[in-house]
Formats: sequence, C-alpha cells, structure tokens
Amino acid sequence: MPSLFDTHVFRGSQAGPRLLILGAVHGNEKCGSIAIERALKQLASGELQVLRGQLTLVPVTNRLAYERNQRAGDRNLNRNLQRTAAPQDNEDRIANELCPLLEAHDVLLDLHSFHSPGQPFVMVGPEDNTGSLEPFAHAAEEESLARRLGVSRAVDGWLDTYARGAARRGVSSSYGMGTTEYLRAHGGYGVTLECGQHEDPLAPEVAHRAILKGLAHLRLVDAPAPAAQAMETLRLVDVWDREQPGDRFARPWTSFEPLAAGELVGWRGNGAEVRAPADGFIVFPNVNATPGAEWFYFAARDRRLA
Ligand SMILES: [Zn+2]
Repeated sequence: MPSLFDTHVFRGSQAGPRLLILGAVHGNEKCGSIAIERALKQLASGELQVLRGQLTLVPVTNRLAYERNQRAGDRNLNRNLQRTAAPQDNEDRIANELCPLLEAHDVLLDLHSFHSPGQPFVMVGPEDNTGSLEPFAHAAEEESLARRLGVSRAVDGWLDTYARGAARRGVSSSYGMGTTEYLRAHGGYGVTLECGQHEDPLAPEVAHRAILKGLAHLRLVDAPAPAAQAMETLRLVDVWDREQPGDRFARPWTSFEPLAAGELVGWRGNGAEVRAPADGFIVFPNVNATPGAEWFYFAARDRRLA
C-alpha cells in the first residue's frame, strides 16, 4: 500500500540526534509545508548539508485534509494519536504510519498555524516530573530548543489543563495525545511551533527560520549556534467548556488578550456570568465550540522561560 505521506530522510556521517519536522498535521495550516519544501530545495542544492544525526522531513502529514484545505479529514489528527489494529478513518490510517515514525526519532518540530491574528508562539511540554499523566525527563533540552526557534512567547500546561477538562467531560485524558505528547511518551521531546495566522505571509518565514535555527542548535548542520532567547511564558491553568448553544462571549476575543481578575468573559445560556478568575489571558477562544467542547482556556503569566 502506498504511504499516506512523503518522507524525506537525510543522514549525516557523524552521530547526532534524529530530528523529525512535520508540516500540515492540520490540513489548512500550510506554512510548515511551504517552509519544508524550501528547506528541501536547499538540501538538494547543497546549500544545506546534514552532517550529524538524521533529519526527516514530512511536508504534508495529513494529505486528505491538506487537499481539502481543512483542519481535519475525518477528525483531529493531533488528538488521540495512537496505533489502531482496525483503523476507522483517515486520521487512524495516518496515525498507523506516523506513530512508528515518531518512535524512530529523538526530537520533533511540529509546524502549525492558527485561526485568529496574533504573534507566533511555541507550545512546550511539562517540566520534568514522574507523574502519571505525562512523565518527562527532557524538559531542559526541550526548553533549550524552544528558546532558539526565533519566537518570544511560550505556552505550557496544555495537557494538564486539557486532561482536567476532559475528566469533567467524562472523556479519557489520553484523548489529549498529539504528536509532541506521543514523542514524549516514547522517550523523546518536541515542540509545536504556531507560526502565525493561517494566511499570514510571514508564517512560512517564521517556520523556515525555525527549521534553520533548529538544525543549527542541534548541530545537524554546521552553522553558528543560535542564541537562547528570553521568552514570555503563559501557563494554561484552566479551561471552560461551552455548556449550551446559548453560551456567548461578552465580545469577540482574540487569543492571548489580557484579562483582569473578575473581568466579564461571557454569559451562560441561562444568563449566568463567566468572569476571569485572576489576572491572566484568554487563550484559544472558540466561538464555534460545540456544547461539551472547550470554549476557552485561561492562562497565567509564568517565569519558566523568562
Ligand atoms: Zn494546528
């Protein structure tokens, strides 16, 4: 059976980490695909040369969604990512190829874009911990990579917060398993780079710059080591689900808008007010959330990558 996605592998002659770079895990997020195609040209011409470790490039991870210019084919590929013996849909079939590919790598750079206008940011995993949800021992390496991708905002706390919301909804917390979570669960580490708004002409530039910086930082190529960047860190601490179709926002929020403690965020269908629990930020507000799904996240400022 033909592979569901094209994979380009470059091996160095010296030892080094195995880096996987993914584009278009979400089909309408094309900046990563454009940036990877550009890197492929540079590798073909010799302008870029992998000397150490291994570089694996997947320009379009979700082909069906990409061709439809939609986030998903049948469902979100970046949730509930696991192998299944009897794949039911497009994303199950991709997962059966993507999971072994992730397992064969040490580091992941997953390139995405987002819906509403805003500055690029990088999503990092948890700090080192031995908990049951997402035990991790590579936080320092992951932070080190995140600091060198050319963006100045980091977001953490996603799986923790997601799992709490999922538990309230009676959904398994394993549903929060995406590409980076999968690699962390298999001994590696990785970040999701949100390169800008879907149509932002700068987003492919952000993605391409991150590829070059990542290659230099991990020493896969010979290039000056990028300097570590001080970052604003926003920690997701809670999530509100949309409960009823009548739930509505007080105004059209954009992601990362600051909220003051007690500020009105919206109303429940029964008129009850929803207010900010503390000073912080509204993140990923979704005016189209279906009842029972995440309506908005709340983040607090943190010092982690400052
Ligand atoms: Zn995405």
